[in-house]
Amino acid sequence: MSDFKDKVVFITGGSRGIGRACALQFAKRGATIVINYAGNEAAATETVKLVTDLGCKAKALRFDVSNTEEVNKAIDDTVKEFTRIDVLVNNAGVAVDGLIMRFADADYSKTLDTNLKGAFNLIRAVSRPMMKQRAGVIINMTSIVGEMGNAGQAAYAASKAGLIGLTKAMAKELAPRNIRVNAVSPGFIETDMTTHIPEEAKKMMLQVTPLARLGKADEVAAATVFLASNDASYITGEVLKVNGGMYM
Ligand code: NAP
Repeated sequence: MSDFKDKVVFITGGSRGIGRACALQFAKRGATIVINYAGNEAAATETVKLVTDLGCKAKALRFDVSNTEEVNKAIDDTVKEFTRIDVLVNNAGVAVDGLIMRFADADYSKTLDTNLKGAFNLIRAVSRPMMKQRAGVIINMTSIVGEMGNAGQAAYAASKAGLIGLTKAMAKELAPRNIRVNAVSPGFIETDMTTHIPEEAKKMMLQVTPLARLGKADEVAAATVFLASNDASYITGEVLKVNGGMYM
């Protein structure tokens, strides 16, 4: 696996779950880590501590990925401080579930704005510095639900399916500047996002998952690091499933 020494990796939603696991795996390979978070300062501080304990530089920036001005400022500030951004991981996400008949406008907007507009905002902001560098890698965290759908998750599925379209469009648009864009598509992973799933529903999921267990954040992070590495230098526009075989 390639070394990330001297590379700057920007991870949205890096305070917890999959984002934190990504931060730690990139740090184990020597990267400087900038994480973003929405409001959980204690968790963000803990991620920064865990990264610095590994001997790498780390910084946490609190902003809402759906807010264009805040995103632009965060990327400008990062480039000023660290001179470059080599890898962007668009990982921040929310899952607001509910049946369509009762689904509120506000929940639809929150889901789409965070999961899809957030990634769009970040890609637009990093595209300029990455184009100048003539190098960069972007990874969007989509979901099995964006690929196969799921009852009760209309807005979440739409946002994650949208991310796949965004990934492919950006892969084509940015390839001439040597910027690769891929997506990682996790199945059901043990994080705060999935703790609320009732035991009965989990049992049913496991019955249709050939590997017969939930995934771990580290397993998603490993796929993310691979796609960001030079080992994946001819891979762009791809959606890499990390789902235990639940959807093939
Ligand atoms: P999680 O544990 O709930 O963490 C969500 C992260 O996103 C937190 O760092 C949170 O910050 C941040 N965040 C939420 N809204 C934000 C906003 N508006 N602006 C900036 N940051 C925001 O989630 P996870 O399970 O690790 O999931 C990470 C990604 O993987 C998500 O995109 C999710 O949709 C996707 N995914 C997860 C699973 C799964 O089974 N867990 C499966 C497929 C895809 P705070 O800590 O400050 O709240």
